[in-house]
Amino acid sequence: MRSVSPILQVVLDTPLRHGFDYLPPTAAGIRARAGQRVLVPLGRRRAVGVIAGLTHESELPAAKLKRALEILDAEPLWDPVTFALLNWAAGYYHHPPGEVMFAAMPVALREGGGALRRELVWRLSARGTEMLAGGPRLGRRQQELIRLAGAAGVAAASIAAAGLGAALKTLAARGWLESIERPEAAPDAGSGCQGPALTADQDKACVAIGGALDRFGAWLLHGVTGSGKTEVYLSLIERVLAAGRGALVLVPEIALTPQLVARFQQRLPVPVVALHSSMADGARFAAWRAASTGAAPVVIGTRSAVFTPMPAPGLVVVDEEHDSSYKQQDGFRYSARDLAIARAQRAGIPVVLGSATPSLESLANAAAGRYLKLKLPERTGRAGKPRVGVIDLRLHAARDGLSQPALAAIERHLGDGGQVLVFLNRRGYAPTLFCPGCAWLAPCQFCDARLVVHLRRARLSCHHCGAEQAMPYGCPRCGSELRPVGEGTERVEALLAQLFPAAPLVRIDRDVIRRRGDIEAALASVTGGRARILLGTQMLTKGHDFPEVTLVVVLAADQGLFGADFRASERLAQQIVQVAGRAGRADRPGEVLIQSCYPQHPLLQCLITEGYEGFAARALEERRAAGWPPYSHLALLRADGPARAEVHEFLRHALATAPASPRAGLRLLGPAPAAMERRAGRYRAQLLLESQARASLHRCLSAWLPRIEALGPSRRLRWSVDVDPIEVD
Ligand code: ADP
Ligand code: ZN
Ligand code: ZN
Repeated sequence: MRSVSPILQVVLDTPLRHGFDYLPPTAAGIRARAGQRVLVPLGRRRAVGVIAGLTHESELPAAKLKRALEILDAEPLWDPVTFALLNWAAGYYHHPPGEVMFAAMPVALREGGGALRRELVWRLSARGTEMLAGGPRLGRRQQELIRLAGAAGVAAASIAAAGLGAALKTLAARGWLESIERPEAAPDAGSGCQGPALTADQDKACVAIGGALDRFGAWLLHGVTGSGKTEVYLSLIERVLAAGRGALVLVPEIALTPQLVARFQQRLPVPVVALHSSMADGARFAAWRAASTGAAPVVIGTRSAVFTPMPAPGLVVVDEEHDSSYKQQDGFRYSARDLAIARAQRAGIPVVLGSATPSLESLANAAAGRYLKLKLPERTGRAGKPRVGVIDLRLHAARDGLSQPALAAIERHLGDGGQVLVFLNRRGYAPTLFCPGCAWLAPCQFCDARLVVHLRRARLSCHHCGAEQAMPYGCPRCGSELRPVGEGTERVEALLAQLFPAAPLVRIDRDVIRRRGDIEAALASVTGGRARILLGTQMLTKGHDFPEVTLVVVLAADQGLFGADFRASERLAQQIVQVAGRAGRADRPGEVLIQSCYPQHPLLQCLITEGYEGFAARALEERRAAGWPPYSHLALLRADGPARAEVHEFLRHALATAPASPRAGLRLLGPAPAAMERRAGRYRAQLLLESQARASLHRCLSAWLPRIEALGPSRRLRWSVDVDPIEVD
């Protein structure tokens, strides 16, 4: 039907790809606009939705159109650019738009509460000022109210709370006080401390990007750890603020880098808010609101902060752009790094992608001229590159994970007063519990995986599904005594404590760093110099700098050389370079030792002799030869369910309905079981869609997904699409 009054196209927080049409609520008041939340009737329930758009046409006959109950927001939740980005992202990731919108809003708003209102404020009017000059006689409460309100104003809510409602009524009636609306109170501004004078390289980067702030540009800032990338961000943000605009800064994990937020807050003369998932809902909503009103012009946040509404951003920064935590791995599977670029493009502003180990995609984009690359090759106040060596584990057997040459180096560095960092990306005591009598390996009941031994807690734990059980006393099959095989950080900790009893050790991994504050405490003992040995997983490779560390030992690097995933070697190289980069300072050049059974492996050799860029060039060649991204584009159709046959049957049916044509350069591979076929009791399998051209991949998905939906798989089966997956095994 055609209607004169607008029809609301409403999306709900459901997996449906289509929206619902409603007539606007009858009550006059708020004008309906796209991006507002709206309360609608849905069957016998009421649901909160978002107005995705307005139309005058509906496929439904007028009699069938229901009326929305209430528009919940006076203003759209998002600024127009961010709202457009959300719609674009729903299309790009082929994800239901309702789920996208709800994923992009603070929890406090999803249920329909916390409407984005402006605060009503009462302040002294011109007439009031004039009358007060005459020294009128006023009651005690009236005086108090005038003192509170002043010219700056006081929130109506505070007046009521102070019991000054009657005084307000009188003074407002006389016209001495007037009301205005303003955005709610802003968080405190920082002190605007001066930063250090920039180095020549930093200055070059700031001049290049600073000279192009009025337009979109993607800048890849490749700078080793400690080269001063953050100073470059800060300096650019200062310029952007001076021009009256704001900045959005994305970081991989704030919980691990509490000092970073403090550094921004200290340096910038405006309110800076943080947004991340370990914040309480209320605090997060308050920060989101401060960002959306412009009260806090600088936002530092993790992945989902890319959707934060901001009235006038002038710069987007993605720090550690290679970090895989930018990709959401379930539900709405977006890449915040890629969306940050799309957002900057829409806003016509620059985006800076910073990393010591840029992703191969970004390096390829720079090589193709799509990104502009800037380098910070020197560490500020530091010695040159650390010496890197490989310890051949075939010649030097390891005891509890550490070879003799590694132990000797640790002893030497400790003796010279240095700190030692041992990196092992595996927590727990041992990855397997083995029976020497019958070769039984403790399996997870629910996954195709072994249980990890956590000796101190005397438990076995599955790192894939979280299942736990007590340590068995003997082999359940033959009764023999069981033996933990392989090593995790807990075991290496025990060995180091035994061999170097005089060297206090700090372990950093997810088993010991559980609560907020743990990481600060651990880092304080490291930077305070008390701890001599620092042992941990990839948590160590993020954000922190350890200037007193002179030796880095990398254990169990080989998993990455032969990982099933095509990105395994890229991740390994990034981890090694990141952890190596934490070490050394001017008077003490660092030393890095990598233990490996494959010291001649070309990727390892390349990394050692030519550094990360040499490695990246070689790895990109391999990708090109194999036709992997960034030289092709991928999407995965994943499915899982309690029965293997059903999962594969569903994928075969899906494959049969696929519109893919080889002529368009598309290939469909599978169905194939996932590398870990059974996880948490569900069988997993997938179809891989590969294309030379991004556009044909998306055309195929657009035509295909409705057909898959029409297959109507059983409720026990789950399926999803992952565009640009970062794991394909
Ligand atoms: P990155 O972000 O690349 O790891 P940072 O910006 O954190 O590097 O800088 C590393 C350290 O060097 C910090 O302690 C920072 O204060 C200091 N630093 C950065 N730039 C300069 C400079 N131009 N002069 C002096 N010190 C600097
Ligand atoms: Zn046994
Ligand atoms: Zn499991």
